[in-house]
Amino acid sequence: MWKILIPKKIAYGENAAKEFDYPDNALIITTTESKIYEKWIEYMGIKNYTIYDKVTPDPAIETIESIKAEFEGKNISCYIGLGGGSSMDVCKYLSKLTGIPKILIPTTFGTGAEMTTYAVISFDHKKKLLQDEAFLADAAIVDPYFLPGTPFNIMRNSACDAAAQASEGYDSKLANPLTKLFCKEAFDILEDAIINDKPELLPYGAMLSGIGFGNSSTTLGHALSYVFSNEGVPHGYALSSCTTVAHKFNNSQYTERFKKICQKLKFEPLKLKLPLDEAADVIMPDRGHLDNNPRDVSKEDIIKCLDEIVNSNPLA
Ligand SMILES: [Zn+2]
Repeated sequence: MWKILIPKKIAYGENAAKEFDYPDNALIITTTESKIYEKWIEYMGIKNYTIYDKVTPDPAIETIESIKAEFEGKNISCYIGLGGGSSMDVCKYLSKLTGIPKILIPTTFGTGAEMTTYAVISFDHKKKLLQDEAFLADAAIVDPYFLPGTPFNIMRNSACDAAAQASEGYDSKLANPLTKLFCKEAFDILEDAIINDKPELLPYGAMLSGIGFGNSSTTLGHALSYVFSNEGVPHGYALSSCTTVAHKFNNSQYTERFKKICQKLKFEPLKLKLPLDEAADVIMPDRGHLDNNPRDVSKEDIIKCLDEIVNSNPLA
């Protein structure tokens, strides 16, 4: 048996955010500054809304509780998450608490968060990856209009994340024929976008990757990456070397193609302050990723992978 969850409504393409019929009295939640989001809102043509713009990256549960309290009894019809992953994650959790529906509109493309049942929320200053069917968007709007404003570094990291998610998701033990279809198509499109300089294809590739891996899982590459994230390396950048080495370990059909993408994006080798043995102890309990890896992974395997990541440039 397998099942697939996708948002009730998906609007994709040029003018998707402009032509969408937004309900009255929506609460727009965003992480960006007013001079940027005012332009977005004007483009969307949305009238009669309230805005909450104090969400910070890696949102904490306290922020969500305070938004809930601030807007209680104000007849909010829906939440609109407008921005990167943090804005969307806040909407997902809020909607679970209040039962109010949510529309998710990504403005950076890579995580595919608008398609998934995942949310990352901080509790006691620790990021936690949560999964709940209640996190699924009632509507997701993917409009390439937002792409040109994205700085190169964010775009590069997002593109790498999307390609890592699609290829790890394809190989995951939780994959099924339909998730593989999405992951394969996602990877083909992302590869074309990156190798042949067609950034306009990234939003669609990232969206398909979100459906694919969101209904299977990511695996060893993601598991390895978090010790680098803990030392401040951006998620997509950490995946460039981690997923390349993980694909090699798994003998993935995507090994060479993923590496070529990372070479094209000119990612530098990674460094790690934490001793490899201690890093492996941090990674081993991450069963959510490791149990779904196509090959069994021992602590020794993880040390070997980490050694390859930091001591030989796997992208050379
Ligand atoms: Zn990821």
